[in-house]
Amino acid sequence: MTLTPPDLPLRALFDAQFQASRAQIDVPLALRLDRLRRMRALIDTYGAALAEAVQADFGVRSIRLTEVADFFVLRSLLGDLDRHTGAWMKTRRVRTPIYLQPASGQIQRQPLGVVGVIGPWNYPLQLTLGPTATALAAGNRVMLKPSELTPHTSALLATLLHQAFSADEVCVALGGPDVAHEFASLPFDHLFFTGSTAVGRKVAAAAAANLTPTTLELGGKSPCIVDASADLDAVAIKIAHGKLLNGGQTCIAPDYVLLPQGREAEFERAFVAAVARLFPCGAAHPDYASIISERHHARLLAMVKEAQSQGARVVEVAQRSGSRHERQMAPVLVFQPPAEARLMREEIFGPVLPVLSYTDLGQAIATVNAGPRPLALYWFGQDGAARDRVLRGTVSGGVTVNDTLLHIAHENLPFGGVGESGWGAYHGETGFLRFTQQKPVLVQSRWAAASLFYPPYGATFDRVMG
Ligand code: NAD
Repeated sequence: MTLTPPDLPLRALFDAQFQASRAQIDVPLALRLDRLRRMRALIDTYGAALAEAVQADFGVRSIRLTEVADFFVLRSLLGDLDRHTGAWMKTRRVRTPIYLQPASGQIQRQPLGVVGVIGPWNYPLQLTLGPTATALAAGNRVMLKPSELTPHTSALLATLLHQAFSADEVCVALGGPDVAHEFASLPFDHLFFTGSTAVGRKVAAAAAANLTPTTLELGGKSPCIVDASADLDAVAIKIAHGKLLNGGQTCIAPDYVLLPQGREAEFERAFVAAVARLFPCGAAHPDYASIISERHHARLLAMVKEAQSQGARVVEVAQRSGSRHERQMAPVLVFQPPAEARLMREEIFGPVLPVLSYTDLGQAIATVNAGPRPLALYWFGQDGAARDRVLRGTVSGGVTVNDTLLHIAHENLPFGGVGESGWGAYHGETGFLRFTQQKPVLVQSRWAAASLFYPPYGATFDRVMG
């Protein structure tokens, strides 16, 4: 009987990839491009089936939403990798200081070997196949552990990837936290994790035992600072879009809004109008994704209820129901929740938007800096001096000015977190280098028989050293 990858223990799969990676360290461009083409063919041929699997896992998550949020991103990434891998893998020559000449220096770009990728459920195709494709472009072997909360998608991904790749090129491990822990404990050459900050800590600890370097793409509370100079109608639609995409289950979704005092009613009116424009039949709209599980839904409802009991004003928006899926949760604005509310202490990850007021910009900046460093920060307004003050006065994984989410889509901007929102960035050449050993090589000239630095140190040495 031939064993298929899911039947093999994780360690056996790892050993097969490890041996293959050590047997072929120099991975030619043609093989890398062929692997990328196989990935592209998988998406093109089975895109509809994959999007239906995502829909089945969420309850409601329209095929068009998966097209834009997963496949569009993946196709542009694969195009980018296809165009640039040849140039990115080339050895770089560097300038050599005078005291080492006539030697020369170069940096050789080599695959790391075996890369582990652990993915979340919220964009279950983009955030699993994206890092996998980038690691393959850099010449690595990949073991992937997708989320157990998207069982249809993860099972189909495993079947398709095992058809398209040999097990020592790409293999998939399925399972929950136990499998995930065993997976994170394998001695990978690099472990790339996307998920929550709490699980990220466990992944970092498991990887540390092997001295495996990690990339941690985590979450956090990403603020929107709305300046006094902003037009609230223009701002509201951008915040509503960023907040409500995928039912609010986006790592860089605006988590809360900081608004100049006295403009709450104006913002509420603009936000309600924006939601009506984006989702004309309210939360029953097919492009409005449902919350991934009953547990996650109950958590969000409990957080809103708690804030309300603590004195916050709660406004449910666009609740027109129609034949709404039970977990299609209507957007909720929560005005002035107290700092101790769970809503203000945890990443929300749903369509609930706290709105806080500030009296001067320094207070808004201090509010952001009082918490862990966010994955993203959004600033809205026309006042360049105020914008610069916020950009210089806060530290976040990334920023979009006068919009939300878009910095993640710019292929030449590195994407990642800082502090509790993660470490290590990817996308574009930064992503390629994440999975690459940049090996420095000094080549001594055959004319350099002896060095100035060899003892005995004589008169020439004294003259050169000054
Ligand atoms: P999660 O941390 O619960 O799970 C992510 C993955 O970790 C899953 O595959 C899970 O099986 C695995 N896992 C669970 N226990 C583990 C363990 N002990 N060791 C190793 N792996 C383990 O996250 P989630 O709920 O799937 O995703 C939501 C979170 O991910 C949010 O916090 C969100 O902000 C974050 N996120 C971040 C990014 C980013 O790019 N920074 C993108 C998407 C999601």
